[in-house]
Amino acid sequence: MSRILVTGGAGFIGSHLCERLLNEGNEVVCLDNFFTGSKDNIIHLMDDKKFELIRHDIIEPILLEVDQIYNLASPASPIHYQYNPVKTTKTNVMGTINMLGLAKRVRARILQASTSEVYGDPTVHPQKEDYWGNVNPIGPRSCYDEGKRVAETLMMDYYRQNNVEIRILRIFNTYGPRMALNDGRVVSNFIVQALKGEDITVYGKGDQTRSFCYVSDLVDGLIRMMNQPDFIGPVNIGNPHEHTILEFAEKIIAMTDSKSRVSFKPLPQDDPKQRQPDITLAQEKLGWNPRVSIDEGLRLTIEYFKTKLKG
Ligand code: NAD
Ligand code: UDP
Repeated sequence: MSRILVTGGAGFIGSHLCERLLNEGNEVVCLDNFFTGSKDNIIHLMDDKKFELIRHDIIEPILLEVDQIYNLASPASPIHYQYNPVKTTKTNVMGTINMLGLAKRVRARILQASTSEVYGDPTVHPQKEDYWGNVNPIGPRSCYDEGKRVAETLMMDYYRQNNVEIRILRIFNTYGPRMALNDGRVVSNFIVQALKGEDITVYGKGDQTRSFCYVSDLVDGLIRMMNQPDFIGPVNIGNPHEHTILEFAEKIIAMTDSKSRVSFKPLPQDDPKQRQPDITLAQEKLGWNPRVSIDEGLRLTIEYFKTKLKG
């Protein structure tokens, strides 16, 4: 049994991670400022004596006795990370420094939730970990993309300079239950629009691609990466099955039996054209493979949003 800190633990991915770590018999400290997270996501864990919730913003230092830290605190959806871009950079830079300082002080192992956004609008396809990326440093997505890139730099420098035990994991588009209704990312937007019979908002022509990973597969990758002995990463975790956004809209309309129609909206600036993880390294180093098919994952996610919309 370990005592494990999950920052951003009341968010979409963080809440699934907290749940899984508790089920495996660990003590879990969930830390969140509730910017995009919600108590609803973790309410079912509150009676567990091994679960503790702290309202805290990681841009402020904190001292806790823990063995492992999963650093997930950061808004992830473009509409939320662009709402207060300076704060997004602070969270990813000052917040990561604080968590690395904590890891150093209490000798905890720390895993950074990085992102496929470090590859920007990639000119290499699919993306391998040794690709350095194509990121606009001054655009509307930079607060997040560059924030996460600096977070990776900080992880590497604390490792080289202070021997902190680090793990860097680059998450590709992940979906599933507990995405917020107003999250703004494509999966929740399309499902909620389809269930309400509203137009499905496809940005641009919908010929851009993404590859979607179900949340339980991602959590499995996070835990494997944290607990293997010596590989620090970075490692890609995502589902290599790639879809165009238009194809994806049509799939969701069909799966929800919806009367919604596609309506085309302007493509946001710097929206990456294509994205697909090369997961060879995760397969080799972690024995990891995604297991949940897109049909099964979407079925579970659609069920979740149906219940949420009723309630
Ligand atoms: P989310 O918005 O649901 O969760 C983020 C959580 O962090 C929220 O609970 C939020 O309240 C909390 N948070 C934000 N700023 C904070 C701060 N300063 N102090 C404390 N808590 C703070 O998003 P998610 O999809 O669960 O993403 C979790 C992590 O995974 C993020 O770091 C994100 O960058 C990364 N990631 C996610 C995806 C994806 O597709 N879901 C892809 C790549 C990377
Ligand atoms: N997208 C869309 N309609 C929406 C939300 C997103 O067409 O209502 C597109 C968006 O332009 C992008 C893709 O879907 O090309 C994935 O967007 P998301 O915000 O989910 O993630 P990211 O761009 O960070 O991969």
